[in-house]
Amino acid sequence: MAVENEILSYFEMCQREGTSLQRGMNFRLHGAYSVILMSVRPNAPYKDELHEEGAVLIYEGHDHPRTQDTPNPKVLKQPEYLPSGGFTENGKFHNAAQQFKAGEKAPDLVRVYEKLRKGIWSYNGYFHLVDSWQKSDGTRNVFQFRLEAIEEILDATTAVDTSFHKKKHRRIIPTYVKLAVWKRDRGKCTICGATNELHFDHILPYSKGGTSLKVENVQLLCARHNLQKSARIE
Ligand SMILES: [Zn+2]
Repeated sequence: MAVENEILSYFEMCQREGTSLQRGMNFRLHGAYSVILMSVRPNAPYKDELHEEGAVLIYEGHDHPRTQDTPNPKVLKQPEYLPSGGFTENGKFHNAAQQFKAGEKAPDLVRVYEKLRKGIWSYNGYFHLVDSWQKSDGTRNVFQFRLEAIEEILDATTAVDTSFHKKKHRRIIPTYVKLAVWKRDRGKCTICGATNELHFDHILPYSKGGTSLKVENVQLLCARHNLQKSARIE
């Protein structure tokens, strides 16, 4: 299981999920929760956006696969259905979000990984899928999904139906803060200089009123020093 704010290579991210993550959208990957890969980098293939100081993710749906017959998927409406008639990943997420909106079920749980730069990903924790719609991007219709960050869940298999009203809202560390911290700390633990198993750590913890929004309150720590610090705080 990934730990919130853990920094991972692509390979480590796939290891955490126990599968090769070939796609950005993976509906109910192992049954209990879905996994999405996001990016707000300027050259990212889709326009994902963080809002409300990192509490809300607006995630763009995905295009038709590029094939010989579909050389430019960016001009085509994002598909809800496969040629076979089943749902695409867009369709599955859309259907789940609409069922939640209609009061028919609890919101789907989604684990979110963010690409920070080539080969560097961070785990943004659990979100609830609460809404979805289609809108024009100027050329064609795209899907958008609204996801809200929630407190960490230790056992996703039992949390699905019971957790919704108990979970407090959460904010993730904004991308610009992560990138600035990574650069300032030169991709190393600020205590021992380790370059693997790194985490973004709140210097004054979020639970004690520390902010995610200031570069000065976030640092890189290795797994060992991250654990040592949380043991001291608890
Ligand atoms: Zn360290």
